[in-house]
Amino acid sequence: MSLKFNAALVGAILALMTPFLLDVAITDQEEFQLRREQQLRAHDFDVQHYRIKLSLDEPTKSFDGETAITFSATMNGLEELALDAESFTVDTVMRQGAPLAFTQEEGKLEITLDHALAVGEEATLVIGYSVTNINVDSTKYGMGANYDLGFNFKPESPTNPQIIFTLNFPEGARHWFPSFDHPSDWATHETIVELRKDYGVVANGALISDTVDPETGRRTVHWSQTRPQPTYLYVMVAGNHSVLVDKHGDLPLHYRVYPGDEADARLSFRSTPGMIAFFEVLYGVKYPWVKYDQIVIPGIGGGAESTSATVISEWSVMSAAELEDETPDALIAHELAHQWWGDLIGYKDWDHIWLSESFATHAEYLFAIHDLSADEAALALHQQKAAYLREAETKFMRPIVTNKWDRPNQMFDRHTYEKGGVVLNMFRELVGEEVFGTILRTFLETHAYSNVTTTDFFDTVRQVTEKDYNWFFDQWLLRPGHPVLDVSHTWDNKQKVLSVTIKQTQDRKLGTPVFRLPINLGITTKAGETIERVWMDKEQQTYTFDVAEEPLLVHFDAGDILLKEWTFDKSTEALLYQLSHDKAMGRLWAVSELQERMDDPAVLSALVESSGADVFWAVRERAVQALGTMRNDAISLALETRARQDAHSHVRAAALETLGAYDDKSFSVFLQNRYDAEDSPLAKAAAATALADSADLASP
Ligand SMILES: [Zn+2]
Repeated sequence: MSLKFNAALVGAILALMTPFLLDVAITDQEEFQLRREQQLRAHDFDVQHYRIKLSLDEPTKSFDGETAITFSATMNGLEELALDAESFTVDTVMRQGAPLAFTQEEGKLEITLDHALAVGEEATLVIGYSVTNINVDSTKYGMGANYDLGFNFKPESPTNPQIIFTLNFPEGARHWFPSFDHPSDWATHETIVELRKDYGVVANGALISDTVDPETGRRTVHWSQTRPQPTYLYVMVAGNHSVLVDKHGDLPLHYRVYPGDEADARLSFRSTPGMIAFFEVLYGVKYPWVKYDQIVIPGIGGGAESTSATVISEWSVMSAAELEDETPDALIAHELAHQWWGDLIGYKDWDHIWLSESFATHAEYLFAIHDLSADEAALALHQQKAAYLREAETKFMRPIVTNKWDRPNQMFDRHTYEKGGVVLNMFRELVGEEVFGTILRTFLETHAYSNVTTTDFFDTVRQVTEKDYNWFFDQWLLRPGHPVLDVSHTWDNKQKVLSVTIKQTQDRKLGTPVFRLPINLGITTKAGETIERVWMDKEQQTYTFDVAEEPLLVHFDAGDILLKEWTFDKSTEALLYQLSHDKAMGRLWAVSELQERMDDPAVLSALVESSGADVFWAVRERAVQALGTMRNDAISLALETRARQDAHSHVRAAALETLGAYDDKSFSVFLQNRYDAEDSPLAKAAAATALADSADLASP
């Protein structure tokens, strides 16, 4: 009766909503607001162990499977067990050699137990299943149609050998073994794979055995992960990878790459041992698994941090020439940091994935500080802020921690990655590096090999600092948005007083607050720079400083710590001083401001100068792009010079792109010469694109 009533009500609501959904294009922000509020997925049992056996037949994209699940009841009188099981057909369910009744419908396997279990009572079920020509519908799980969710027999292609692999993130385990496929249930597991004898197999944990049956000629490989983990971190990859061996102390490292890529892979993954050493010191906790494999697979854009066995994109293997343009270090660092953040501790539900992704994204920046120049590290942080701000501007703003999602994949956006990473960095700046390190170590040690929620992290912060940082987490994690700041300053030459006024102008209708912000103001005079720390917690505040002489430069947010949009109206003279005297990110900002004033000859000549003489390539690149918004002979000459002479391939590429964007075939000969002369793949590609643009014009 009540069911019928509910069905009628749902029907009526759908009838009301359908015209709205069909006829009116909703914004991404509205789409976010309409997402369902999720509750933790309930289950009345707790899986202890999965023993997964597969026999693979790659020509028919088929396998036979047998998974033994050991679980205990978490309620009295447990009579039915509901598991996720999709894309394969369950043939038998056995307990202690006797068959059990079951049904398999719409991705759910419901098993009737032979007797009701008492709380804490343990049972093992053996489930037999099979699939022919497996085909997982990834769109059902909110992924793109080409996403290799679940189990894949990837055929050989011009760029990859045949590879068989699983991709369990986010709901992929259920396509190759029956499971409670949710991050809240952690279990140990074994993976036992039988297949053709010339293929290797890698999975989580330790290798138990690897044998070939002389009679059948089939190989069987047995891996065991003796620490519990959620199902989305289980992995299996089979194929004929080349295995490069490395080590960090006693820890074995393997780079599993395509045959022929060995030399490039050695170079591309060379930072791995040093990164592990760095993270062990940073987190105060030893690398938590028995080995670390990085396994190249096709079709993945980044990586997936399965415990002890990260699968990683093909692009991470680069040639020596490509490594001059960029490195895979940020990706390698990100996936490696997950071995602590996401793997050693994991989130209990998708609401809390910032505990994994924000920390791994922050780790990219921390490794950049350790490994690269100060300017490069500052640029890395700047780019993370920009990635979030783009999403905030073009899509939506949401709290980082939220239970509003329809599919887990929706949570893996620029808020969870970049905004969360930058928020962690602001917190690190706020509490100081030492306290931050103690918080991380305490959190990892307290919750090792278990799942956590955001509240657990807040508890650790309170315990370590004995202070209340709720105000910080509330504004940055639990509410949407970021500060939008208007900054202005005046100088009273009589009183020798500098006044700086800051207004918070962010739209607050979605719940974005007036932020409480620690702000560093850098005040530079002939005597040098002084940093003044002020606190802002109102919509508008003015701060005054006694300064001996008129400042040459006022740097708002010295150290570039805050996540913000901001305007700071400065005189051209002040911007030109900043362009030639400030730190790298200040100079980068000055270029953007000056770009609007290039009709002033002094500005134009300063930008031409900067495009060639700035010590940091990203400032030269930005100056080249700014110059390209105008066109005259002096600018063209400057761009050609940068394209030919700059020591950094990104600057040469930017100059070539800019010349191409002029859509002028008179540059064709120059561009062809650059194409022929370039060693850098990045700059060569830019020359080719620019040349193609010119050629299009040449042939009407
Ligand atoms: Zn990640």
